[in-house]
Amino acid sequence: MVYEVPSGTNVFDWVVPKEWNIKDAYVKNSKGEKIVDFQKSNLHIVNYSVPVKKVASLKELKEHLSTLPDHQDWIPYRTSYYKEDWGFCLSHRRFLELEEGLYEVFINTTLEDGSLSYGELYLPGEEDNEILISCHACHPSLANDNLSGVSLAALLAQHISSVRHRYAYRFLFIPGTIGAITWLALNEGKALKIKHGLVLSGLGDEGNITYKKSRHGIAEIDRAAGHVLKHSGDAYEIMDFSPYGYDERQYCSPGFNLPVGCLSRTPYGRYPEYHTSADNLDFVHPRSLGDSFLKVLSILEVLEGNCAYLNLNPKCEPQLGKRGLYNSIGVNEMAMLWVLNLSDGSNTLLDIAERAGLKFDVVFSIAKTLCENNLLKKVIL
Ligand code: ZN
Repeated sequence: MVYEVPSGTNVFDWVVPKEWNIKDAYVKNSKGEKIVDFQKSNLHIVNYSVPVKKVASLKELKEHLSTLPDHQDWIPYRTSYYKEDWGFCLSHRRFLELEEGLYEVFINTTLEDGSLSYGELYLPGEEDNEILISCHACHPSLANDNLSGVSLAALLAQHISSVRHRYAYRFLFIPGTIGAITWLALNEGKALKIKHGLVLSGLGDEGNITYKKSRHGIAEIDRAAGHVLKHSGDAYEIMDFSPYGYDERQYCSPGFNLPVGCLSRTPYGRYPEYHTSADNLDFVHPRSLGDSFLKVLSILEVLEGNCAYLNLNPKCEPQLGKRGLYNSIGVNEMAMLWVLNLSDGSNTLLDIAERAGLKFDVVFSIAKTLCENNLLKKVIL
């Protein structure tokens, strides 16, 4: 469902801004040639530029141009959300070709009362408790820092809706910062039900996966993500929480302090293509996106399956042999002994997996087998 929140709505310390729309924008040289044309790339205009129709000298024009001298063919992505200004972005190569003279600047934009739009999908679960999946949808044309999170969240929503799940899932497709602030301001009651959350962004580049911890640092989502990455066999990085980055900044503000981490590959700002025209479909790779998807799914599987159990035969070990459960001391048998020993109702399967140094899914399937043999039962905490 798409929600529209009117401009002027107070959202905590912020106000939903006016709606910006653009029809056209260009700069023409004295020969009448368009040297920058919004119709060729929507990155050419500084987002939120006010309307302009004027003739400018090269000197004045240059004060409103952004380029990337280190990457002469790329167009930077720039915004001016909270300052009334205008500007164009272009390749440095084109910038160097500009000659002295007068330039016609035309920006056909509107900045009027309208609304902030965001998408929200709620999938009910067996419990009321929720898992939040949040991504930003506000960077035009950018593939990794925007579309990768949106596409992965959409695929995830499709997958979750087709399988049985314990938690309810809430998917948010929002403009960064103001979107998260707006959602939290209008949904404080719903936010209380969020037990785990992930902000998804930058999941298609070829870098290693990176998990940034929630403000808690030891929340179940932090432990689940750490566990999955540790056992993945791939290189990865785990970063501590910091109050900068994507919308985890808002979810983890002290008034909410939600257990929401952020999953990406190369963190924002650490790759040169970040916020430029080079963050395009050539920069994202199907293999990376697929790997990110599987890792998110594995993290969610840990959360879904992470319960505490009670050993129904706690006085000495049950005789596994007579039940056909004890063949030789292999991984499964050791896992069985760990699960039986630590299932006193206080340890979850993730606690057991971590303490035993085993993968969660091994411990989970053993718990299932022990339940089927009436040696274990799930504890509702
Ligand atoms: Zn960005």
